[in-house]
Order: sequence, then C-alpha cells, then structure tokens
Amino acid sequence: MSGYDQVPEAARPFLGPTPSGKPVPVKVLRKDRLDWKEKVALIEIFKGMGFTLREMFRPRFTIQFPEEPFPRHPSVKGRPVLAKNPDGSIRCVSCGLCEFVCPARAITIDPGETSDPIQREPRDFQIDMLRCILCGMCEEACPEEAILMSDELLMATDARPKALHHLEDLLVPVEKLQERIDYTKRMYRKWNRPQS
Ligand code: SF4
Ligand code: SF4
Repeated sequence: MSGYDQVPEAARPFLGPTPSGKPVPVKVLRKDRLDWKEKVALIEIFKGMGFTLREMFRPRFTIQFPEEPFPRHPSVKGRPVLAKNPDGSIRCVSCGLCEFVCPARAITIDPGETSDPIQREPRDFQIDMLRCILCGMCEEACPEEAILMSDELLMATDARPKALHHLEDLLVPVEKLQERIDYTKRMYRKWNRPQS
C-alpha cells in the first residue's frame, strides 16, 4: 500500500494529484435552503441577548485609561531597565549577551573597565525604545539578573531622540525590581523542569 493510500479519502484533495497524475475529485457540500429555525433567527437573537445580559453582571476586565491606572503585576513586560545594587554599583558586566539575542537590535553597549581587574561595567548602555518589542529575551539571556522587564508601560514620547534610553535613564534600584526577579525565577524553574 502506498503512502497516498494511507491518507484518509477526505484529506486526499489536499495532497494534490494522485500518484498516476489524475486530479482528485473534490466533493463540495452546499446548503441552499435554511430550515425554519434558521429562517426565524429569533432563537439566535435571544441567545445573543441572554449572553449580553449575563456579561453585564460579571466583573469588568477593562479599565478606563488614563483615568484609571494600569494594574501592576510582576508578570508585566514593560520597559526594560538595568538593576543598580544597593551600594550604587551596576549589576551589568557588559558581557553583551542581551545585545546579541535582541531580535530587534535595540540594544547597544559601550563596555568599560572598572578598578577591579576582573570586573567590567558599561560606560553607556542604550536601548532604542522605537525598536524594542518588549519580548523579554534580553532578560532571559542575562546571566546577572541585570536587565529586567519593569512594569512601566507608558513609553510614548514626542521626539525620536527621547526614545533612545541611555544608562542613566535605565538604572533602577534592585529593590524596586525584586518582585520581577522572584517572578522570573519561579517561572524559569517551572519551564526548565527536567523532563521525566
Ligand atoms: S525586550 Fe526584546 S526587543 Fe526589547 S531590548 Fe530586550 S530583547 Fe530587545
Ligand atoms: S545586561 Fe546582562 S546580558 Fe546584558 S550585557 Fe549586562 S550582564 Fe550581559
């Protein structure tokens, strides 16, 4: 039996011509007449009205933006930011992994040296928010938990240069990002569970 014969008859038209080159006849099912229930349409109208009525008494999921603020949750992927340690040092070691994985080529790092011979930190770190798609891949790639997705979602600006965020615009105290760090650790643990 050929592979063609093993495919169910109804699916054969999708395979194109038969092995002998003949086109497969396609059966078209057409319904020309509506039955009385479809003609009246009242049942569907009442179903729709019942659905609307039920939804009116359910909790609302939309918000009146900008009067109502966005709900904050650590799962939100907002503007990427850089963590600053409590002693004022920058967590980023300029390894360049985030710059490498960024699919939008939004990150540009200018790496610099520190007084510690084995430690580096960025002289400048730029994220072009006109390119950034808030995918979170930079955060996922970072070995230092230095770049994190904040919950800031308001990024509109009236001038292109303002959309280019530099090191000083990106630094945020790590305590403010702790919820996000805990959340990502929890999620990565779940996703990277060894397969049984
Ligand atoms: S969130 Fe995605 S697009 Fe934005 S800087 Fe990070 S990797 Fe690039
Ligand atoms: S933010 Fe993280 S991944 Fe990006 S250069 Fe710094 S340490 Fe490396």
